[in-house]
Amino acid sequence: FYRPKSEGDQGYAPICLGLEDFYSRRLYRRIQDCFGRPLAGAPDTWIDVVDRHSNDSNKTIQRTADTRRCLNLGSYNYLGFAASDEYCTPRVVDCLKKYSPSTCSVRVDGGTTKLHAELEDLVARFVGKPAAVIFGMGYATNSSIIPVLTGKGGLIISDSLNHNSIVNGARGSGAVVRVFQHNTPLHLEEVLREQVAAGQPRTHRPWKKIIVIVEGIYSMEGEICKLPEIVAVCKKYKAYTYLDEAHSIGAVGKSGRGVCELLGVDPADVDVMMGTFTKSFGSCGGYIAASKEIIQYLKYACPAHLYATSMSPPAVEQVICAMKVISGEDGSNRGAVKLARIRENSNFFRSQLQKMGLQVLGDNDSPIMPIMLYNPSKIPAFSRECLKQNVAVVTVAFPATPLLLARARICISASHTREDLIRGLKVISEVGDLVGIKYFPVEPEKH
Ligand code: PMP
Repeated sequence: FYRPKSEGDQGYAPICLGLEDFYSRRLYRRIQDCFGRPLAGAPDTWIDVVDRHSNDSNKTIQRTADTRRCLNLGSYNYLGFAASDEYCTPRVVDCLKKYSPSTCSVRVDGGTTKLHAELEDLVARFVGKPAAVIFGMGYATNSSIIPVLTGKGGLIISDSLNHNSIVNGARGSGAVVRVFQHNTPLHLEEVLREQVAAGQPRTHRPWKKIIVIVEGIYSMEGEICKLPEIVAVCKKYKAYTYLDEAHSIGAVGKSGRGVCELLGVDPADVDVMMGTFTKSFGSCGGYIAASKEIIQYLKYACPAHLYATSMSPPAVEQVICAMKVISGEDGSNRGAVKLARIRENSNFFRSQLQKMGLQVLGDNDSPIMPIMLYNPSKIPAFSRECLKQNVAVVTVAFPATPLLLARARICISASHTREDLIRGLKVISEVGDLVGIKYFPVEPEKH
């Protein structure tokens, strides 16, 4: 289903040969049914329960089954903060003693500590918006905020590969949902043009509100959003933009400010910025940053703010500390070093994988790099053989990807050393040969 975009191009382009036909046929439904069944008695096809992460969770994970130490190439721990950190950890431990693990209260009923207020100010400053509100869970941030932003009479235009939390939020909103081709601003414009005329005033059209939802870095593709073009289309058609930066905030941009910084987009041109604390900040929870009016409205209208227990104080403290390190407010240059390292590591690893003849998705600077396995039957062999050599990789398949686009998704971190990366590459190369996933473009015949 996929072939290189052009000679020498390691990217991929769907050629969609009868793809829709294929999906609608009985064969597909049968395979879907088969894949939907629990895997009984097939060990090693799933990563086992992890006993504990070591001090540096990107180097080792220990599995309960055999307490094997593995190089972890699957964690979202992009900057290495999900580990013991000289600045964050002592402060988080103090916070745990002072505040306990939970506020046991919702935000509006005594669940707002000064830490929660401090983090909201910090997030707003960090992403360059006037205000922010935080939530205890990233998934729930999307799924509960989107229905508050729009509903019946509204139109949501969503990238075809948006995360499930966005899909669920959009479905639950009651708005009409249209999907545009993944990361394709031209197709977004086509979809918008079917609904409204360019420049038409918002008050003169059939939709109460039009929201375009995209991600900064797509978690299954490793691709960076074409944000400047998407923002331009949204402006032309007076649609609001909603940007999920779960995988890009802290991970890309010169000072870790995400895709706006990386691609030179003014944060003022993105109406709603969403992100999670579960990746670059090594904690949990999510945020929405927007104008003061939108944030004020969300605080009083969003059920997840009104009825859910507030974010755990030590988790809040972890994000505060990590953000301070990233911005250099801890008085060191460790943040800048981490940001330079993740970029260097990612670009090194990606270029080496490509040189090996593997089909790697995604863009330069992105720490996510899916290696295409295509055939789902290669998944168990690929992950098992890597694990045999103490390299843990995450494999992803249907229903998270289309059936024949199974992949191993590598996530690179600032805390990987060059030796770690070289070891990982060696193992992936050997296993790639073993399972037969290397691709070498055939030289055109010379006449
Ligand atoms: N948005 C995106 C794009 C994601 O990839 C994820 C999960 N990885 C979420 C939202 C949900 O975030 P969390 O895991 O922090 O709940």
